[in-house]
Amino acid sequence: MARSSLFKTIHIECPVCNMFHQVEERIRMSNATIKGEKLFYEEHYFVCTNGSGDSNAETEKATNSANEKQLSGRKNHEFQTENLNNINLMAIGNAYRKAHSLMTTEEIVSLRENYGLTQVELARLLGWGEATISRYESKAIQDEAYDTMLRIIKENPLMAVRFLDKNSDKFPETKRMQIRTRMIEKLDSYGKEFLSRQVLESAYVKFPVPSDFNGYRLLDIDKLESIVSYYAERVAELYKVRLMNMLWYADALSFKTYGNSITGMVYRHELMGAFPIGDDSLISLKNVNVRREDDLETTQYQFYPNSTLDLSVLSKNETDILDSVLTKFKNFSDMNLAAFIQEETAYIQTRQHDIIPYSLAKKIHG
Ligand SMILES: [Zn+2]
Repeated sequence: MARSSLFKTIHIECPVCNMFHQVEERIRMSNATIKGEKLFYEEHYFVCTNGSGDSNAETEKATNSANEKQLSGRKNHEFQTENLNNINLMAIGNAYRKAHSLMTTEEIVSLRENYGLTQVELARLLGWGEATISRYESKAIQDEAYDTMLRIIKENPLMAVRFLDKNSDKFPETKRMQIRTRMIEKLDSYGKEFLSRQVLESAYVKFPVPSDFNGYRLLDIDKLESIVSYYAERVAELYKVRLMNMLWYADALSFKTYGNSITGMVYRHELMGAFPIGDDSLISLKNVNVRREDDLETTQYQFYPNSTLDLSVLSKNETDILDSVLTKFKNFSDMNLAAFIQEETAYIQTRQHDIIPYSLAKKIHG
């Protein structure tokens, strides 16, 4: 007999002796088989402590063979209720989930509540059948693919926003905006835990549509990383100030020439020229090859090519733009380049930390 412990006592109508009395809810380790796998879990059950229980149970047992089967191997004064049975089924399901690194019911509930979503809303967000989450929060075990999607939006609020945008037609507008705001709050609060790309992307969630801010293009990190490498390969000593201004110049020139930026980055008027929003995250990108150089007074970042990148993400038009930027600033020192940018109309007509709209940027001299 497995060791058990008292969980609590409760006054209910006892089905063993058919009397209203205090029964014990006890727990013990038990096992069950799911998908051919033996799993251990904490089983809850009630015990009738009323001495007269046994004889009544015997009578009942004799008249009900199905019940007898169910009770076989157990003491007759034990019983289950439907509610307790559901709790046990959930415990068995969660034992299976833990064994397979799937999110438990509690984790799914907490993910949902983190975003302030109902079960139906979370299902709609992911484009699933409306009853799906309700089933996963009770007895049904999610398969791997569904679990992955749940995990992605749990760990990464940015993905939650993306799913929301993708399935926006499934939410009333005010509700959608309310959920989106909450998701962006979560993004701000634990954005630092994200992988390098997601940190930079999170700075651009505020620019979700093509506009004058991003040069009518959404942030494209593949292109950005490629440009950094392309420049680094062709500039003898590429430091941060030069790189940032050359990025802006290329995006501005592309906008002027083709009506779109290349990277989709949003730039601001900063002390040393035009710097993209998220410039620090840009430096931390996994595919940006950078070396930090500290001396007594300053920290410098020097950029190097990344030979693992596939530069074919850049079109011929785009590399033409990059080449003309390289040619233009070939003989400029870093300070001269910054001074040149500071003379541009787009810089003069904006104040410090202001976003430089592309409509102004296209007035560049290039
Ligand atoms: Zn009883």
